Amino acid sequence: MLKRMLGSAVLFSLLSSCDTDPLLEEPQVVHPLLPAAQATVPAPVTTTAAVSTLTEPVLTSAATLPEPAAVPVSLQVEAPAASHYNIREHIIYSGSRQSKKVALTFDDGPDAKYTNQILDILHEHEVKATFFVVGEHAAFYKNTMKRIVDQGHEVGNHSWSHVDLTKLDENRLQEEINKTDEVIQGYTGKPVPAFRPPYGAVSKMVVDYAEKHHKIICWSVDTRDWEGIPSDQIVQHVKRDLRNGGIILQHSAGGKHGNLSNTVKALPALIQYLKENGYELVTVSEL
Ligand SMILES: [Zn+2]
Repeated sequence: MLKRMLGSAVLFSLLSSCDTDPLLEEPQVVHPLLPAAQATVPAPVTTTAAVSTLTEPVLTSAATLPEPAAVPVSLQVEAPAASHYNIREHIIYSGSRQSKKVALTFDDGPDAKYTNQILDILHEHEVKATFFVVGEHAAFYKNTMKRIVDQGHEVGNHSWSHVDLTKLDENRLQEEINKTDEVIQGYTGKPVPAFRPPYGAVSKMVVDYAEKHHKIICWSVDTRDWEGIPSDQIVQHVKRDLRNGGIILQHSAGGKHGNLSNTVKALPALIQYLKENGYELVTVSEL
C-alpha cells in the first residue's frame, strides 16, 4: 500500500501541485466504507503526458472548446454559440455580489502537514472554510479528515485521484466521483454538497454527472499559491481580484515541490485583511 501511495505521489507531482509527503503519512488503515477490493489506491490513469501540460486553473469544454491554454477561468471566453448549451451556466464561480461574504477554499488535501497547519490558523481566527479533498487522500489521512469535520468546515469532492476528468470514459468518471463521495460521507454522515473538478477541467459529461448530486464550484480568485509564490503575493492576488461573494482558491496539500509553506504563512494576513475590510468568511454552501 505504501509503495502504491509513493507511486501515486510521484504521479501527483507530475500532474499538478498535488503530492504527498510519504514521511508524514498517518498509519494506513483500510477505510471501513470501502469494500476490500476498492480499499487500495487505484493505479494511476494513463493520461499523464496530456495532463502534465495543464496548470490550474483550466476550464475546458471537451465538447465545444479547443484544447485549453493555461488561462485563468475568469479570462476565458464562453463556449461558441453554436450550441445552446453553455457549460459555464452549470458552474458556480462566486456567490451573491449583494452581501459582503467570501469563501476560503483549500484543494487537494488532506495531508498530515499543511492541512493541519491551516486548520490551526482557521481555528485560532474562528473561521470556517471549505476543503475540496482528493478521495484517496481523504481515505488515508483519517485524523486530518476528522479534524476538518470536527472543526465545522465544509468538505467538497475533488475527485478520487485528481485526474483530468474530461479524459475519462463514463465509468471511470463516475467511479472518481462516487468513491470520493462515499469516503467523505463516512466522515460527515451527510451528502456531499459540492464538487470541484481537478484543474477546473470540465466537459458536458463531467458536468451532467457531477451536477446530479452536487453544486459544481470553481472560483473567482486564484491565489496561485500552488506555484510557490511569496506569501505577500498570495494576499496581493486576493486584494486585486476579490469582489463580494468571492470564492478564493488555495491549496492544503501538494504545491510546487510539495511546498505550501507560503500558503500557511499568508493565511493569517489574508484573514486579517478580509476581516478588516468587512468581509464575512463563510463556507461555500453559506455563500
Ligand atoms: Zn486540485
